[in-house]
Amino acid sequence: MRIVVTGGAGFIGSHLTEALLALGHKVVVIDNFITGSRKNLEHLAASDNLHIVEHDITKPIFLADKVERIYHLASPASPIDYQKLPIQTLKVGALGTHNLLGMAKAQKARILLASTSEVYGDPEIHPQHEGYWGHVNPVGPRGCYDESKRFAEALVVAYRDFHNVDTRIIRIFNTYGPRMRLNDGRVVPAFISQALKGEDLSVYGDGTQTRSFCYVSDLVRGMIKVMEEGDQNPINLGNPAEITIREFAERIMALTGSRARLSFGPLPQDDPKRRQPDISRAMSLLKWQPEVTLEDGLKKTIEWALKNV
Ligand code: NAD
Ligand code: UDP
Repeated sequence: MRIVVTGGAGFIGSHLTEALLALGHKVVVIDNFITGSRKNLEHLAASDNLHIVEHDITKPIFLADKVERIYHLASPASPIDYQKLPIQTLKVGALGTHNLLGMAKAQKARILLASTSEVYGDPEIHPQHEGYWGHVNPVGPRGCYDESKRFAEALVVAYRDFHNVDTRIIRIFNTYGPRMRLNDGRVVPAFISQALKGEDLSVYGDGTQTRSFCYVSDLVRGMIKVMEEGDQNPINLGNPAEITIREFAERIMALTGSRARLSFGPLPQDDPKRRQPDISRAMSLLKWQPEVTLEDGLKKTIEWALKNV
């Protein structure tokens, strides 16, 4: 198939592109490199099946050749990135998603939106299942990202119901692995690079907040399954193994052999206190569940970081 990946030069997008090429597909990456980089695709550049288009998807784009699938991932994703780029983040979720839905309609292509667990905000139910509507502050520091994705989901549903576009919505929970920018501020690259440099690990708040971390290869396998075997309703993809941020910092110190200490700073406003995906829908519909343990995934990520700090 000929497949479009928006945001294909980013962290998850580059792994997805690699997996799709390995399956024998032709991939058209559309990216403006605002938070991604050509370097993430360098190892695939020799492939005749990869075509990279530098383009800001908030502006319309028309592809002449037939496209069968669209994975729509383009969006700043780390809290530091989207708080630095709030207008671009809102525009890519709204105008960018509109343009890609237009492409899906014109091309009669199936489109998958990469949404996020952030649509649940600081959740009042635990773990989070797809039926939960969320607890989001639209005017807080995370509003630009959360509402951009919530609007994007609503737009996908409108195109599905009004134009009969074949759609998928995945809600991705914290995913990590090689090629995350070490300075993107997210907790996995932040703690790993601090530990490798012998700096103290910057725990925000008292570290009792939780996250559940999914290794990128598990996520990518799930994304392709949703695209090919899933249905049109939102579906959570993530690893349910929940851990406190303090415990997570200790794990990183043990795995890197770091002698650094933990430093405690203020908890950012609206930082979700607990997050854990309920993946029963993905397990029953797709027979999908994560396979890579936190320890194995972190070892691979640390190995990569060692060559890139
Ligand atoms: P990333 O920042 O590494 O990748 C995003 C990519 O989108 C970058 O290559 C960037 O240049 C591109 N992009 C942004 N705006 C664009 C625009 N206007 N036009 C063209 N390209 C544009 O982030 P990531 O972690 O790989 O996230 C990918 C997707 O997955 C995002 O939509 C994000 O919201 C979603 N997601 C990620 C996670 C996670 O834990 N990594 C969790 C939930 C959701
Ligand atoms: N965090 C931290 N230190 C850091 C970066 C993040 O303690 O240097 C915490 C952050 O407050 C949050 C969790 O780690 O509770 C995950 O943060 P991240 O930015 O990775 O993603 P989020 O899930 O909040 O979008």
